[in-house]
Amino acid sequence: HADIAMYRAKKLGRNNFQFYTPAMNEESLERVRIESALRNALERNEFVLHYQPQVDLKSGQIVGMEALIRWNHPELGMVPPGRFVGVAEETGLIVPIGAWVMRTACAQNKAWQDAGYQRLRVAVNLSARQFGAPDLLQSLESALNDTGLDPACLEIELTESLFMSDVTPAVELLHRMKALGVNLSIDDFGTGYSSFSYLSRFPIDVLKIDRSFVADITHDANDAAIVTSIIALAHNLKLAVIAEGVETAEQLDYLRRRGCDEMQGYYFSKPLAADDFEQLLRQRRALPAQIVEQEASLP
Ligand code: C2E
Ligand code: MG
Ligand code: MG
Ligand code: MG
Repeated sequence: HADIAMYRAKKLGRNNFQFYTPAMNEESLERVRIESALRNALERNEFVLHYQPQVDLKSGQIVGMEALIRWNHPELGMVPPGRFVGVAEETGLIVPIGAWVMRTACAQNKAWQDAGYQRLRVAVNLSARQFGAPDLLQSLESALNDTGLDPACLEIELTESLFMSDVTPAVELLHRMKALGVNLSIDDFGTGYSSFSYLSRFPIDVLKIDRSFVADITHDANDAAIVTSIIALAHNLKLAVIAEGVETAEQLDYLRRRGCDEMQGYYFSKPLAADDFEQLLRQRRALPAQIVEQEASLP
């Protein structure tokens, strides 16, 4: 039990210097606590998905969303993925948790389609650990079949770390995933092992520009050059490109002028609970008309 583990660890730390090694710091205490609580979180229904809109820069309309997991823990409150996804990966718990994410995201998207809202794509993050698990294709297929979601409305986000080792099984698995009809994207593009060889050989549909490049786009000439080049690279490879972490009108304007296809970021909306996301759909919220109507031309 989490509390017992916490209590024991604390007690050892306080009363017995032999056990209080520098390694037994606050961080490892939190880790112990998170790990044991994580084991029960699925069956206790403690995970929730939030959805962040992805907006088309030509029409200004919401065209998709990224499903982002949160852990609603009775004592810790709403725990962000940065605090538990790493632990879930190390313990392998990410495999059943990831299957839950896939199924829940598909079911939610189908429910919104059935309710008559505009047809959207939902993107789900896949960790390297899930990619290596033997039942990936099966859980992907059953999520689609059981919910009835059109595979074209599902996008799987991969990271470049997947391609750093053992490339051969990865290519085959990606093709089998593509054969189901889903879209594949590369998340945080440019921060990992950005290799032209995987870009040309793998059946990828979308590049997501990491928000670390977007942050200073209007002030840092190097970041601006990198982003401009990623957009051109994507388009030359016939891939779509989404900018992550767009927070200001200036960043948005820069990206739109350079032909970036979609944006995702706080400027439009933070990730939202399902009810709040549905509220946006009901309002048919879009980007301000003056932003999308300007003619796309380089300054
Ligand atoms: P990611 O996939 O790159 O997701 C984007 C992250 O950027 C999200 O953080 C989102 O809230 C944040 N973000 C979006 N727009 C902005 C912005 O304008 N400004 C800033 N500062 N941040 C913005 P979040 O939700 O905390 O997720 C963090 C990471 O956790 C994700 O990064 C992803 O790597 C991982 N993650 C989230 N959900 C899942 C999941 O279901 N499975 C797996 N394996 N990983 C997940
Ligand atoms: Mg992502
Ligand atoms: Mg990302
Ligand atoms: Mg990230």
